[in-house]
Amino acid sequence: MLTASANRIGVDVHAYRPSESSDRSPGNQLTTASLDDIDALKAFAATVDVVTIETENIPVDTLRMLEEIVPVRPASRVVEIVQDRLFEKQFLQRSGVPVADYGVVDSAADLAREIERLGGTGILKTRRFGYDGKGQSRIGPGDDAETVWSDHGSAPSVVESFVSFDCEISVIAARSQTGDVAMFDPGKNAHREGILRETYVPSGLDPAIEDAARDIAQRILESHDYVGVLGVEFFVVGNDLLVNEMAPRVHNSGHWTQAGCAVDQFEQHVRAVMGMPLGSAERHSDVVMTNLIGNDIDDLDQHLATSNARVHLYGKRETRPGRKMGHVNTIL
Ligand code: AMP
Repeated sequence: MLTASANRIGVDVHAYRPSESSDRSPGNQLTTASLDDIDALKAFAATVDVVTIETENIPVDTLRMLEEIVPVRPASRVVEIVQDRLFEKQFLQRSGVPVADYGVVDSAADLAREIERLGGTGILKTRRFGYDGKGQSRIGPGDDAETVWSDHGSAPSVVESFVSFDCEISVIAARSQTGDVAMFDPGKNAHREGILRETYVPSGLDPAIEDAARDIAQRILESHDYVGVLGVEFFVVGNDLLVNEMAPRVHNSGHWTQAGCAVDQFEQHVRAVMGMPLGSAERHSDVVMTNLIGNDIDDLDQHLATSNARVHLYGKRETRPGRKMGHVNTIL
């Protein structure tokens, strides 16, 4: 989707993929090499004007090496923070952004102590490489800390208090190299089993809550001279907001912009990292975005036959439970 948007505004994409895959090939040009292959990375960097990412799980050393040759946007220092749930929470707290109560867990004893402090329940999350609910364990009254810790893989983690939120929303924002900011309308997100299923825009929330979410996103963008698209996920509890996490990239909860805005999050990201002017983030339509997860793809014909629905498939050859295969944007 980034490549399609880039091509539309005259930008070619050279993709770097760390392993062979039968999935549809990304980019106009493709390098397949590991993320620690210095020669391949240097050869790749020599062909491009700017490097960007579509996942935050790229080794920071790789990004730092590329940064010596070519601009990397967003910068490695931001990606380094977001890769680690503890660094991310500390950064948010330093920036005055509220997060759920949490504790650092490096052992079963830490877990037992923190769960007691949090009132007997919580969610244990690995600090690194977790997404879509992976690397997470819910802890309830009576669960044994030793068992949870070993089932969880004993990886360095944080445990968060269990937030009884009213709903989840996210803000997708873009910042240019000259500091211009464009912010899409907040979307309301429905998750099941830790995976995003639908995004609804407009969110239907009080405008004051939406403005507060925008203010927080703006603060995050400015704190690190951020360049590119950023996704910020929030829990809404009454009139209060807690930030759950942020993503230094285009985000699944921003896919609705393809049907709702003249310039979507993908083109906005390309514009930002290329030093082009940002487009308007104004919404011209109400949209529901529905993810096609695992066997949902079997209903493809039904979606294709629905008026006002636009289907986007990701070219993944193998369907697996929980795997995001595509999404449908329905204009309301
Ligand atoms: P995450 O991978 O952190 O985005 O978590 C995936 C989903 O799990 C979130 O979107 C929430 O629906 C749920 N979740 C995560 N953390 C918490 C929490 N502290 N309290 C309640 N629900 C949570």
